[in-house]
Amino acid sequence: MNHFEEYYTKFVQSVGSKEGAVSPTLVNSASFSYGTPEIAEGIFDGSIKKPLYSRMGNPTTAKLESIIAEMDGGIAAVATSSGMGATTLAVMSLLACGDEIISIGGLFGGTYALFSETLTRFGVKSHFFDVDALEDIQNAINEKTKIIFLESVGNPNMRLPDIKKIAQIANDAGIALIVDNTITPMSILPLALGADIVVYSTTKIISGNASALGGCVVYRAINESEDKFKSPRYQFLEKFIKNMGKMALIGNAKKRAMRDFGMSANANASYLTMLGLETLPLRMDRIIQSVEIIAKELDKNGVNINHPCLTQHPHHARYLSDFTKGCGTLFTIDMGTKTKAFEFLNKTKLATLTANIGDSRTLALHMASTIYRDFDEETRKFLGITEGLIRISIGLENPQDIIKDFLESSK
Ligand SMILES: *Cc1c(COP(=O)(O)O)cnc(C)c1O
Repeated sequence: MNHFEEYYTKFVQSVGSKEGAVSPTLVNSASFSYGTPEIAEGIFDGSIKKPLYSRMGNPTTAKLESIIAEMDGGIAAVATSSGMGATTLAVMSLLACGDEIISIGGLFGGTYALFSETLTRFGVKSHFFDVDALEDIQNAINEKTKIIFLESVGNPNMRLPDIKKIAQIANDAGIALIVDNTITPMSILPLALGADIVVYSTTKIISGNASALGGCVVYRAINESEDKFKSPRYQFLEKFIKNMGKMALIGNAKKRAMRDFGMSANANASYLTMLGLETLPLRMDRIIQSVEIIAKELDKNGVNINHPCLTQHPHHARYLSDFTKGCGTLFTIDMGTKTKAFEFLNKTKLATLTANIGDSRTLALHMASTIYRDFDEETRKFLGITEGLIRISIGLENPQDIIKDFLESSK
């Protein structure tokens, strides 16, 4: 049985049209003519649902948004120019000067830099915690906390969070939980586990072939009765809740972030991303199986592998219970020293050396000398970046070919 059987029909049927052009229509226009001033007025006041201007929404992008929203069980989604655009949209639309973020997990380098450096300049403070530091997380919550931010899988530390437990903490405290689910689309459904907002870099496994940079933010509906967003902590949402009801988080995101910062998706990227979506379940299923085959075989041969499918991994039990559909395309190899890591990367004939992940091809990168080169020793230690660490993202190749190549390269 395929792990993602429930997505095949939906994805191919909703991307393709039954009438006219089968492939999604690519609307490559930045602006749209309204025809009459009355229609223009209606579009601007929201009573007429027609495109306003591509920074605020594009028909091709809207199709992508509806498919991703459905994939995650959200009420709607906002596609963005990149994954960092998605994270920026999700957080900036909720934050003001003086607010605090509790950031848990990995963390992806760009997100870490955004929280620790850039947002600090705007008076937003972030606290960083390991996925298992639940008591510290609980204690860090105060009246200024607006966001708990979590990565579904630590990239590249491969630590797995107990998402349900963290969602419980967020819900008990009435704080928004944002999950970066880039590495585990379909495998993990954050909204069903109690999160409020899901962010994706669609550049990775969703597109799957390095053809398009993109991101997406999925929102849950605001509840008609009680809802944590109907509280003084999120007072700025009040007018959106009044005017847009369950769609309030979308309205807020579009007005407060998309319109004002302009991290909008472009239609070409949305088109290419939909082509990727069609085969996402097929690729994901093969890759999560290959990852296990390769990680276990390399481990057996004495290569120092970090992946939770291995019994010695601290989250092996959680992997078996909560990550039954895998934890994405990644594992890491620790070669011990930078010299050894470079030797491996110079020897491998199959891995493509690049900063991307989730590609059809197997990718590899030495962490300390690239993405994490600007980070001080303490931060690297917290993020699990050692001198000899190589991040691997497994692709669609025959896993036996990768095993052979990696064993030869690590000699
Ligand atoms: C790549 C990545 C991002 C950023 O996405 P871009 O499309 O490169 O901007 C965010 N989070 C995770 C987990 C990623 O892997």
